[in-house]
Order: sequence, then structure tokens, then C-alpha cells
Amino acid sequence: MKILKFGGTSVGSPARMKEVCKLITDGEQKVVVLSAMSGTTNSLVEIADYIKKGNPEAANNVVNKLRRLYSAHLVELFSTGKMLDETRKLVNGIFMHIHDLAMGAYTESVEKEILAQGELISTNMVTNYLKECGIKVYLIPALDFMRTDANAEPDLPFIKQALNNILTEHAGYDIYITQGFICRNHLGEIDNLQRGGSDYTACLIGAARRAEEIQIWTDIDGMHNNDPRFVDGTTPVRQLNFEEAAELAYFGAKILHPTCIQPARYAGVPVRLLNTMEPSAPGTLINNEMQWGTIKAVAAKDNITAIKIVSSRMLLATGFLRKVFEIFEQHRTPIDMVTTSEVGVSLSIDNTSHLADIVEDLKKYGTVEVDENMCIICVVGDLAWGNIGFESKVAEALAAIPVRMISYGGSNHNISFLVREQDKKAALCELSHKLFA
Ligand code: ADP
Ligand code: ASP
Ligand code: MG
Repeated sequence: MKILKFGGTSVGSPARMKEVCKLITDGEQKVVVLSAMSGTTNSLVEIADYIKKGNPEAANNVVNKLRRLYSAHLVELFSTGKMLDETRKLVNGIFMHIHDLAMGAYTESVEKEILAQGELISTNMVTNYLKECGIKVYLIPALDFMRTDANAEPDLPFIKQALNNILTEHAGYDIYITQGFICRNHLGEIDNLQRGGSDYTACLIGAARRAEEIQIWTDIDGMHNNDPRFVDGTTPVRQLNFEEAAELAYFGAKILHPTCIQPARYAGVPVRLLNTMEPSAPGTLINNEMQWGTIKAVAAKDNITAIKIVSSRMLLATGFLRKVFEIFEQHRTPIDMVTTSEVGVSLSIDNTSHLADIVEDLKKYGTVEVDENMCIICVVGDLAWGNIGFESKVAEALAAIPVRMISYGGSNHNISFLVREQDKKAALCELSHKLFA
């Protein structure tokens, strides 16, 4: 069985939804994961933000605007009064619920419940449209099987068991639709897998089912060799190793959720990136194969903070690094890059919610310096240490750019540079010019 995920733009209008329905009704049984229509989750974030700021009137204005937009979408999508009425009733109920939440007090749970509504609406629209077309389709509520554990990590054994039970109980359908992004946490509350999380949902389902293939359908023909939002003339990469794809996703290639490749890699399920706007284009295949001797792609991750700690005791005494890392662990802050010297260590983080406390604690062991608004530039490909010339070629491309940190040797697939955010575009362009021209 294949798992297909369609992102926000792929279901961004009733016309696009109909195109997706054509694509998925090829007679093969499949699970289809859908995002919210593009723009919807951003509007829901805006609603939650107004509630948080104690401005229910503004929240309601956004709710009403969204409600009007969906009213028009429904009329355009359905051709029979029966399905239109049924879906309208359901969508109206959802908007009433958002309205009620907007009238109440802000809590994090309220915010997460609001954010979940976009996927609930889009999946009901597509399911009912398929029913109208006479397709045997079943809507699996993601909230019945997608769950995270106490560490906010996906609970794969639970997901597997719960999903298998549902599919066994409702066997015989041609298409199973489910919501991307949304889940329940270990307390049973509505939660999500972070922005862009529908990719993660698809890969978790693919791993849970040991699917034949996971397909991520989006608005571009696969993973490009650089970020097309900043660099002109990027081209698709036809094949990536799981590790290369995981590094690119983690270090900022927006086409994939940062951690979605992990479950597919562990389960050994290939992932194919495809273009809904051009379904016959080959896209990118992510699997276990490794193409030696090539640099594949470049990505950039913003909002990075660099922290340097110079040890007060001249030399790095035994235990200094342990103490430094423990502080980050205590404050539940993951570290992305690390470089060391005889006297100190530099680290980079992207979650700064505990930065002040971390700096306070680090000051017990040395002099601390913080650089904000930095960006990680990550170059991915065959970067095993035995290869000659690749690192120098990459470094040469950045000759005119101030580099704060360089990380190489942590994997066979990656070399990363920390630069100022203001130099990001120039760095990406120079790398494309040097590596792919
Ligand atoms: P979806 O809504 O389908 O999940 P996203 O917007 O999350 O789509 O991801 C697709 C977008 O990712 C593309 O339109 C492109 O602008 C952006 N992107 C960033 N880096 C890359 C890359 N290296 N290759 C392809 N697309 C990329
Ligand atoms: N709708 C969610 C978002 O906009 C999840 C996704 O699209 O993958 O982030
Ligand atoms: Mg996405």
C-alpha cells in the first residue's frame, strides 16, 4: 500500500481538490494524508493570537472572513445539494466551535484545538467530494491514532496498533483519507506535529504500515539543489539518500518537515517527492542508495543563536564539556552545531526560550558570548572524510563571507557553516554558482 500526502497548495482551492481526487482514484488502495487548504493554518494562528492578546472581536473578524471563504469553496466543490448541505452543516459546526473558543479564555490547549480545524475541514471536504463521485472512501480521524508521548515524540507503537485496528475494522475501502499535522498528546489533548507536520504524519503512517512507498505531493518538482525562494536557476535532485534528505530537511529545506525522514529511514520505506501541478514529472526519490562523489544540495536554517563559552580555567579541564552540555539538557534545548578549541566551545541553538537561564548557568564555568540572527548553511552530499577537494570547494565559495562556525566530520553527508542571516542569500547564491553551475 502507498501513502500519499498532499500539502496546502495541492488542496488550496476546490479546483485543486478535484485534481487531487483525479490523481488518487487510479484503482489502487491507498492512505491519503491531507493538509489544511493553504493559508488556513496561518489564519487559525492569527485567531489564536488575537485570543491570547485578549481581543476576541479581532479574532472573530478573522473567523468570519474564513467562514465566508469556505462558504464559497463549498458551493464550488459540490454539484449535488445533498453533499453540499451535509458538508456545509459540518463546516458550520466547526466555525461555531472556533467562534465559541474565541469567546473564551486563552490557553495553549485552546490554541492547539483551533489550529487543528484546518485539516478537519479539508479532509471532510475531500472525503465528501469523493463520496459524491461514487468512490469507496473512509475518513480515518487522525485524533484516533496519531499520538505523541511524554517527550512530545511520536508514539510509534501506539500509532501502529491503533491504525492497524482501524484499518482492520474498516477493511475494503479504496481510499482512506486522514488529517496531517494533528495528533493527541500523552494526556489525550489535541496537539500537533509542528508547522509543516503533515509530511511527518505521512511518514509515520508509512513506517507504521511498512508501506510500499510514501509520496509527498507538493507545488514543486522534488527537492531542488538550493532554496528556490532565494536562488534563481535551482534544479531538481533526482535521488537522495535517507541521511542526505534528513540533513536537508533538518537544516531548512522547507519542502520537508524537519524530522519527517527519520521514521521512513528506520522502516526502510522509500519517500518520493512529487509535483501536484505536474504529476508526470519524475520528482525526487529518497531511499537507501548512495551516489558517491557528488554534492547534492544546499539548505539554510534561520533564527540561529550562537553561544561561545571560554573556560575560566585556561585549559578545557575534564568535565567542562559535560557541564556545558548538561546545562542545555536541563533547559531542554537541543544543540545543532558544536565546535571546540583548547580553551572554549561554540554551540548553536534555534530554540531560545531558555536562553537567559542557559547563559546565567554557563557563566559559572566561563566567559559567555552570544550572537543572534545567525543562519546555518548546510551542504549535503558525499562528504566522507577520505574524499579530496569537496570541503575546500565549499569553503572557497564562502571566501567573501564572514563565517562564525564550521562543522564537518559529524556525518559523511554534511558540512555546515554558521553565517549572519544578512549573508544568507549571498552564501546560497555563491554555493550554487561554485557547486552546481
Ligand atoms: P506543502 O504545502 O505542499 O507542504 P511547502 O510550502 O511546505 O509545501 O514546501 C514546498 C516549498 O518548499 C516549495 O514551494 C519551495 O518554495 C520550498 N523549498 C525550500 N527549499 C526547497 C528545496 N531545496 N527544494 C524544493 N523546494 C524547496
Ligand atoms: N497545515 C499545517 C501547516 O500549515 C501542516 C502542514 O501543512 O503540513 O503548517
Ligand atoms: Mg510543507
